[in-house]
Amino acid sequence: MILVLFGKPGAGKGTQAPLLAKELDVPTLATGDVLRAAKRAGTTLGLQAKGCMDRGELVPDSVILGILAEELKQPQYNKGVILDGAVRTVPQAEGLERMLSTLGKKVDAVLAFDIDNDEIVRRLSDRTVCENCQTPYTGRKVGDVCDKCGGALIRRKDDDPDAIRTRLRVYDDETAPVLGWYRKNGEKLVTVNAVGAVEDITARAMRALRG
Ligand code: AMP
Repeated sequence: MILVLFGKPGAGKGTQAPLLAKELDVPTLATGDVLRAAKRAGTTLGLQAKGCMDRGELVPDSVILGILAEELKQPQYNKGVILDGAVRTVPQAEGLERMLSTLGKKVDAVLAFDIDNDEIVRRLSDRTVCENCQTPYTGRKVGDVCDKCGGALIRRKDDDPDAIRTRLRVYDDETAPVLGWYRKNGEKLVTVNAVGAVEDITARAMRALRG
């Protein structure tokens, strides 16, 4: 199963991805996590992406398609993948489709998280993430300990108010049109109400995917 998680920054894709992965028994791939790891390691990729990421802008499509090409040929993704944070532009959707078709595969479903901007701003202003495993938390302080790995919780640089505004604008301008592209292309497109308890959203998403 190749599933694309689609939605605004802060819609809960990163929270739901591992839960859906457990349900569907396929691994997740988050382009944001790959980029943050590269940034921490100080690799060329990380240096290339740093400025865009810190400002809340998108990194170039060629960089994202390079990551996807590199990752998706790894054997752990043979049985499928949940893509979290890619696809974010129409050229990425087109590039992914070309890449998958050479492997005899295609996107099986796109799961769109539905949430309004006020809730996004509330969530992102209150979000911390584990500096080690990237698990996101709301309502927890910087310096608290991650439940999963014991890492320290930090604020993401791009969760400051200016960057949040930029990311929402970028979503409207560049990412929202991807949904229309998938609709036209005939992929199974399902929408889930992304407000509520984490486990309720997972259950709703699974119902929508199976329906
Ligand atoms: P995320 O963790 O998905 O919110 O991604 C964090 C940041 O990484 C984004 O604000 C972008 O700067 C960059 N990024 C991650 N995935 C993509 C993508 N598919 N296309 C462009 N930029 C991306």
